Amino acid sequence: MATNRTFTMLKPDAVANGYIGGILKMINDAGFRIAAMKYTKLSAEAAGAFYEVHKERPFYGELVTYMSSGPIVAVILEKENAIADFRTLIGATDPTKADAGTIRKIYAKSISANAVHGSDSDDNAQIEGDFFFSKLERF
Ligand code: UDP
Ligand code: MG
Repeated sequence: MATNRTFTMLKPDAVANGYIGGILKMINDAGFRIAAMKYTKLSAEAAGAFYEVHKERPFYGELVTYMSSGPIVAVILEKENAIADFRTLIGATDPTKADAGTIRKIYAKSISANAVHGSDSDDNAQIEGDFFFSKLERF
């Protein structure tokens, strides 16, 4: 059953470049409500666990190093059709292929440092939100 929630991270490049405010404004303007939010930093071990599904992909090692290189903002978002609408808002993984007006087109530097994460399914949104937030931290 659709939960109407998705999970995002503002990745280390977005935070380091001062884009937290701009990205959160785009998210709010698109009609998403913030249900949980945390400014934190992943250890290499935690980043490896979060991206466990990509363990066999060639970019896994680089991704883990990158995602643990600086602070991130973890966020649970709520909206009708949250998963699909958020994927539309962020655009393609590779910013050179992302549509105009998407978060990645505007803020991402490269296919690896691509500004934001977005869950790809209701199940993964639940798992990823649970990775960062307790029951007391979501509203
Ligand atoms: N990634 C990468 N190189 C690639 C593909 C992906 O570094 O060729 C990174 C990128 O940060 C991406 C993450 O791995 O956001 C997860 O990949 P996925 O295919 O799930 O893309 P997403 O769902 O984030 O668009
Ligand atoms: Mg993905």
